Amino acid sequence: MTDDKTRVLYILGSGRNGSTVIGDVLGSAPGFGHVGELHWIWDRGAGENRPCGCGEPFADCPFWQKVLQGITDVTPNDAAERAGLRYATLEGLAPFRLARRSWAQRIRPQQRSYLELTERLYRSIAEVADLTVIVDSSKRPVYGQAIMRLEGVEVSVVHLVRDSRAVAFSWRRKKVNPDRPDGGLMARYPAWKSALGWAVWNTMGEYLRLRNRSRFLRIRYEDFVREPQHVLERIGEFVGADLTAGLTGPREVTPAPNHSISGNPSKFDTGAVQLREDREWAVVMETKDFWITTALTWPLLVLYRYPLRKHAGRGKRTTGH
Ligand SMILES: [Zn+2]
Repeated sequence: MTDDKTRVLYILGSGRNGSTVIGDVLGSAPGFGHVGELHWIWDRGAGENRPCGCGEPFADCPFWQKVLQGITDVTPNDAAERAGLRYATLEGLAPFRLARRSWAQRIRPQQRSYLELTERLYRSIAEVADLTVIVDSSKRPVYGQAIMRLEGVEVSVVHLVRDSRAVAFSWRRKKVNPDRPDGGLMARYPAWKSALGWAVWNTMGEYLRLRNRSRFLRIRYEDFVREPQHVLERIGEFVGADLTAGLTGPREVTPAPNHSISGNPSKFDTGAVQLREDREWAVVMETKDFWITTALTWPLLVLYRYPLRKHAGRGKRTTGH
């Protein structure tokens, strides 16, 4: 029995992989709730007071205030310290430390403190929202690895992959982010940088999967957009629940309102969302960027069954929506 454990459905993968919309849909199932990219809670949430998915600034969101009250020794003033703990735990050599079998003996006190805090955070969320499963779209492999080490948390991982060229194209585009305190643009990266990030994070995802096969399910974002029903059924089988509540048409989703941390600006959209395959990148992406990205990511592109050439952009051009 795992009744005493908090269940987390963790979405792992690169940036710009569609995790916000998929997290929103998974979190719409009865007993499920999407909390966004939870690992940012101490800096972007408590520290910078960015808006929650409900639209309220973090400090004014009754849900998060209640969750923090459930962790009695945490006050907003601790936010910077907690964020510091997060960095100390998840950056640098942490992946290698956490991968060792003897990690528990070697882990530093501040890392242990962060992991304990995180475990209590999940428990408090589940209690306040009365959830059976918390959907966390933090995406980072290292954070995923860290929470899989928590004794009181049972983690199932959806490794969400998306074509690296589509991801690189998305990182190049200008995108306003109302989530930022200055109302500014989301970060933009050159193709080589997002391609390397994609390769590193997905390779780490594969490494973790090899060590925890039964807890991993790999999903392609493109398959979700094309056949959401089918993909939601696969994930549902994986976690033992019906996850199709957010699906309101063959390719239409209507996510339930949520209290999500950080994530794509689309989290503020309410109402029905039409899923469509965004193939714009295959038509207008600069050839140089396309080949740089393909060259840096091809082994995993092959593994994930993405064509290495831009074939869908030729002759089969879709209308320009
Ligand atoms: Zn909220």
